[in-house]
Amino acid sequence: MYQRSEHSISRTQISDNALKVLYRLKKEGFDAYLVGGCVRDLLLGREPKDFDVVTNADPEEIRKIFRNCRLIGRRFRLAHVHFGREVIEVATFRGEGAEQNDKQVLNKEGRLLRDNVYGTIEEDVWRRDFTVNALYYNIKDYSVADYVGGMEDHKAGTLRLIGDPETRFREDPVRMLRAVRFAAKLGFNLHPDCKKAIHTTAALLESIPSARLYDEVLKLFLAGNALQTFEMLRQYGLFQVLFPATEKSLTFEEEGFPKLFLIKALQNSDNRIAEGKTVTAYFLLAAFMWEPVQMLAKELLKQGGDEYMAYQDAANEAISRQIRVTAMPRHITTAMREVWSLQPKFIARMGSKPSRLITHPRFRAGYDFLLLRAVTGGADPELAKWWGKYQEANENEQRKMTQPPRKAQGGKSVRRRNPRGNVKDSGTGKEV
Ligand code: ATP
Ligand code: MG
Repeated sequence: MYQRSEHSISRTQISDNALKVLYRLKKEGFDAYLVGGCVRDLLLGREPKDFDVVTNADPEEIRKIFRNCRLIGRRFRLAHVHFGREVIEVATFRGEGAEQNDKQVLNKEGRLLRDNVYGTIEEDVWRRDFTVNALYYNIKDYSVADYVGGMEDHKAGTLRLIGDPETRFREDPVRMLRAVRFAAKLGFNLHPDCKKAIHTTAALLESIPSARLYDEVLKLFLAGNALQTFEMLRQYGLFQVLFPATEKSLTFEEEGFPKLFLIKALQNSDNRIAEGKTVTAYFLLAAFMWEPVQMLAKELLKQGGDEYMAYQDAANEAISRQIRVTAMPRHITTAMREVWSLQPKFIARMGSKPSRLITHPRFRAGYDFLLLRAVTGGADPELAKWWGKYQEANENEQRKMTQPPRKAQGGKSVRRRNPRGNVKDSGTGKEV
């Protein structure tokens, strides 16, 4: 137990709504703690993403206390207490067997019976993943309860699993991704036993449902440490499970191009987050899958056929393989395709095409993608520069920029029609 004077957490760091929930539970005679990532982050002086509360009140009791409360979850009921946009999650201590289906007992309404599932704080500790995620900030006396040496690990910057690492990874392989995510986010090191276990259990990640893996991928790559996360995932053999085709393309890379391209994409994304700009999942995912699509398209082209169709087929195939691992929703894969299909369209600089292309809803993303390709040797830097200039130019200048050189004007109408006939419905975002 760390008394109030022995740790650095102050109530001014805690959201008012979380404090309201904690005090209210206390007033009603229950125990109430902050737990998990928020305590870990508060100790680092970071602003937590959200505040999680645990208590010995059961969900029904919690519901009676808070008007603005909704119970969620089937397997394990949790309360969400709503304050406008902020939601404070309030969970009841979990007891042993809370995670194992066969030990769960349901009542007539399907609610889990508390005896077998709800527990005490001493039991709740053991189901948590890392020691630094198992610190409990007690609202009663502002102390921090530590049952597993989490404070020491926190000071040392170590991510250590509670219990036997291999067993814990087998129980839930997503914990391996969480290890990497926290290491990158907090600048912590993985405990050697944890590292060792990842190498033996990495492949188990394949058994995780694709929807959950997609959620984890977003957390991994949109948190501002994407580049380091990528390097670590590769180092531990986890990246190849998440993005098998991308990993393969990195192995076959020519003079480091695919890797450079990806690294630039990840770096860019991290920089944008650092500058407070938005980043989109589809852009990064389009970057991850770009090289696999190129490789597939080249294979298809070898078998003969039309270049445009080869790329469409390659995009379809690459996406359908990837969604089996990480279930990217349709609006994301559509946007990825749009970014890709804009790339060849940037080549046409003359005539009316540029003025139409620039109004495409994904133009900006497509252009950013082109820039990335240009700085990593995948596209003509001159082309990227031209499009940069074109966007800045006023209408008059734009017209001048797209005027065909004089000598070409004679054959204009003849040259136009033929090869472009099919471009019309090559449009954007069409699922093929
Ligand atoms: P973040 O900053 O991403 O919110 P977090 O540690 O709060 O990090 P959450 O996913 O919000 O992560 O989970 C809250 C807490 O629940 C964790 O700190 C941990 O104690 C526990 N937990 C979450 N997921 C797992 C898991 N897969 N296995 C064991 N414990 C988990
Ligand atoms: Mg959290």
